[in-house]
Amino acid sequence: MTSDLLDGGPVPDHDWERAAELISSATEVALACHIAPDGDALGSMLAAGLALRAAGKRVAASFGDRRFEVPRLLRFLPGQDLLVGPGDYPAAPDLMITFDAAVADRLGVLAENAGKARELIVVDHHPSNPGFGTLNLVDPAAASTTTLVEKLLHRLGLPVDEAIATCLYTGLVTDTGSFRHSSTTPAAHRMAARLVATGLNTEEIARQLWDRSPFGYLKALGAVLDRVTLEPEVGGGLVWTFVARTDRAAHGLPYDAVEGIIDVIRRADEADVAVVLKEDDDGVWQVSTRSKGGTDVARLCAALGGGGHARAAGFTSHLPVEETMARLRALVAEGTSP
Ligand code: AMP
Ligand code: MN
Ligand code: MN
Repeated sequence: MTSDLLDGGPVPDHDWERAAELISSATEVALACHIAPDGDALGSMLAAGLALRAAGKRVAASFGDRRFEVPRLLRFLPGQDLLVGPGDYPAAPDLMITFDAAVADRLGVLAENAGKARELIVVDHHPSNPGFGTLNLVDPAAASTTTLVEKLLHRLGLPVDEAIATCLYTGLVTDTGSFRHSSTTPAAHRMAARLVATGLNTEEIARQLWDRSPFGYLKALGAVLDRVTLEPEVGGGLVWTFVARTDRAAHGLPYDAVEGIIDVIRRADEADVAVVLKEDDDGVWQVSTRSKGGTDVARLCAALGGGGHARAAGFTSHLPVEETMARLRALVAEGTSP
């Protein structure tokens, strides 16, 4: 199992060593993950933060959302006390590390801090990552960014306790869709085995992530499912719906409460591509797309200013729902097979 931890993928060994040197010699480390963090982004950052703090480093961890708020689903993660708002973040860090951010833009307001960092280590697994750091630990074959963090901690000789393992495991299970997605390799299962062996509570993590929500979610889900549309003639089939701000307001739901709806919509057998448009608190639409493999949604979303993975990607739209769907429909019909 140790060989997994030394398998650096396409990242040359000397880059892993250099990352370990930079971090070992630092007294202060600034950590950042992508905006609107998911389990992998926040899990990676908090795991690294907990390990580095235990090693005696001063740690500041943040994400650059204009409205800085930890998604409710992820508040069970250990290490929340490492978090500072973007306003309290070092303006020009000596050493900054980013997690799960495919482009500097995904750092939101912290992209500026990253631009001023003396050393910037980019830890990520998106194939589209251009390597925007001074040092890039990017492995597209990694199941999650937390996979890379586990390797980095190993190189640093830092132990993974139950709290750190909880953060790492959360990234692994969210990004593999509970070991359902194509990224579920033998190495992913071996990583899970190492983490579970620390004593973490798999049942509680699963409940926190997938098996709870406010009652209002059920009512909002009803409304959103009521308007779900199937367009079997578009590409390999398209299924879509939207969640407006008013849908959430009617049931007092925050934005992050509706992020999982895509997992219900994508069930439709008749569609290769599933889409959910979600209006955020600023009235901007965050669009989630999924494919069963017939369409490369990363390419499709990149054409609309976003990005992601071949089977799970997203973009941001300032247009009304119908206009966004018209563009998306045209791209799906055109067909961008993987
Ligand atoms: P989501 O639908 O929010 O779960 O996002 C699925 C994947 O799409 C994420 O893992 C990101 O890689 C990517 N993604 C989502 N939104 C954007 C965006 N606005 N820009 C670039 N990539 C995105
Ligand atoms: Mn992510
Ligand atoms: Mn990820």
